[in-house]
Amino acid sequence: MIAVFYAAMTYRRRFETPLAFPLSLVMGGGAVWALADACALAAPTPGLAIAVNYAVFPGVATVIVGFFLHTSISSGHRPSRPALLLIQPLLLVAVVATDPWHHLFYRHAEFGNLGITGQPGPAYWAHVLYSYAMMMAGTVLVIRAMRRAVRGQRRVYRWFLVGAIAPTAGNLVTVFLHVDMRGLDLAPVLFLVTGVVWWWTERSGVNSEPVPVKYAQVISALSDAVMVLDPHGRFLDVNPAAAKLLAAVNPAGGAVIGRQWLEVAGTHFPAAVADAGQTTIYGASGNVYDFRVVKMAAADGSSTGTVVVARDITELERLRAELTEQAVRDGLTGVYNRRHLTTVLEAQAAVAADGHPLSVVMIDVDHFKAVNDRYGHAVGDQVLVDLARQLAGSVRECDMVARYGGEEFVVILPGVPAHAAAERADLWRRQCAARAVDTPLGTLHVTFSAGVAQLTAGGSPEDLLSLADEALYRAKRAGRDRVLTAEHTLSVTG
Ligand code: GH3
Ligand code: MG
Ligand code: MG
Repeated sequence: MIAVFYAAMTYRRRFETPLAFPLSLVMGGGAVWALADACALAAPTPGLAIAVNYAVFPGVATVIVGFFLHTSISSGHRPSRPALLLIQPLLLVAVVATDPWHHLFYRHAEFGNLGITGQPGPAYWAHVLYSYAMMMAGTVLVIRAMRRAVRGQRRVYRWFLVGAIAPTAGNLVTVFLHVDMRGLDLAPVLFLVTGVVWWWTERSGVNSEPVPVKYAQVISALSDAVMVLDPHGRFLDVNPAAAKLLAAVNPAGGAVIGRQWLEVAGTHFPAAVADAGQTTIYGASGNVYDFRVVKMAAADGSSTGTVVVARDITELERLRAELTEQAVRDGLTGVYNRRHLTTVLEAQAAVAADGHPLSVVMIDVDHFKAVNDRYGHAVGDQVLVDLARQLAGSVRECDMVARYGGEEFVVILPGVPAHAAAERADLWRRQCAARAVDTPLGTLHVTFSAGVAQLTAGGSPEDLLSLADEALYRAKRAGRDRVLTAEHTLSVTG
C-alpha cells in the first residue's frame, strides 16, 4: 500500500522532474511484486498459488527498468533509446504466460508451506542474471558520477548509492543471518527502501537539477588560468583560460601538453612554479599576474605534480594603485591631503631626530574670504588650484606639498634649516604676488602669508606645526604678504 501510494505521488510529478517517472516504476513494480507474492501465499489452492506467483515477475521487471532508468538519468547518462529497456520485460511476460506449455521458466513448481518451491529453468536464470546485471550497471553509474561530482552534489549521489545498494545488501543480510522469512520475499520491501530513499533525496531539493556537475566542467568555465604540471614540470592539463594566457605571452608557442614549463612559460613567468605560495608577477608586456602555486603530494609524501592558478590582475592593480593614490590626495588641488601630511611628517621627524634639519612652511592665503565674496567661489577654487600647482612645481622631489585646510598649505622640507626654508618660502610668496589672475570681474592679485619652523631637539611633529602656525599668525598680524620664522626656531638655530 505504501508502494502504491508513493507510485501515485511520484507518477503525478513525472513532468516536473526526470527522476519521478523511474521512481514511480520502482514503486509500482514493487507493489505488484509484493501483492502477487502475498496473494500466492494466501491462495486457497496450490494450483492457484502457482498461477498467481507468475505475476511476481512482471513486477520485478518493472522495478528493474525503473531502477536502471533512475540511476542512469541521475548520473547524467540518460539512455538514448529507452525503448530497448522494454524488450526484457515483454519477453519475460511472454515466457511466463506460456510456461505451462514449455516449462522454460519453471521446470516444475510445487506449493509447500514455505510458498513456491521448484526447479528453475533457463528463462528463470536469464531473468535473474539480467536483473542483477542491470542493477550492477546502474550502481556503477552512480558511483562514477559520485566520484566526478563537485562536493555539494557528492552528498546527493551518496544517498542515491545507499538507495541503489539497499536491496542487494538487504538480501545478503537475510541470507547470511538465516532470517526465517516464512516464505515471504523481502526483496519488494527492500526496493521500497530504495524508492523511499531516492524519493526523499530528490524531494529534499538537494538535487533539483539532476544533471551532474563535473570538476572538469567547472574548471574549464573558470576565467582563472588553471595549469597542471607533472612532478617533472611538464604540462599535464590546461583549462581554456590557461591556453589563452599561454598563447598570449607566447604567440609562437603551439601545443603545450607534454612540454616543459620552462620551455613554454619560463621566460615570461620565471620563478612562478618553483615554490608553493602566492606571488605577484610583472610580465614583460606590462601586465600583472597573480600566481598561486600548489604542490600536490601523494599519501606517502611524494610529489604528484603542481597546480598553477594564474589571474591577470593588471586592471585590478591599476585600480588599486589609483585608489591608493586618491586616498592620499586632496580632491580639489591634487596635492597631498592633511592625513597623509601627518603620516609623512611623523616619518620625517623620526629621520630628523638624528641631527638632520627638518623645516615646514605653513601658508595661508590673505583675505581669501574677500576673494570668494567678490569673485565667486569658482574663482576662489581656481586660486587654490593655481597656488597648489605653483608650490608643487617649486619644490624638490623629496619635499612635500599638502593642503592643510581650506586655503592653507603646508610644505615639508627635509634637510633644510629654517632660514633657508624661509628664503624659499619668500621666493614663492613673491612669485605668487606677482601673478595676475584673469577673472570675468577683472584682474586679481592674491598674496599669502607664511610661517616657517624647524623641528627642535625633542620636539614632536605637532610642536613643529604649531610653531609654524604661531609664526603664520604673527605674519598676518604684521600686515600679511610676508614670511616669518618661529621665534623659538630662531633661538634654537641661532
Ligand atoms: P586671512 O587673511 O586672515 O587669512 O583672511 P581669510 O579671509 O583668508 O581668512 P578666513 O580663514 O576667515 O577665510 C578663509 C575662507 O576660505 C573661508 C572659506 O569660505 C574659504 N574657503 C575654504 N575652503 C575653500 C575652498 O575649497 N574653496 C573656496 N573657494 N573657498 C574656500
Ligand atoms: Mg585660513
Ligand atoms: Mg586666509
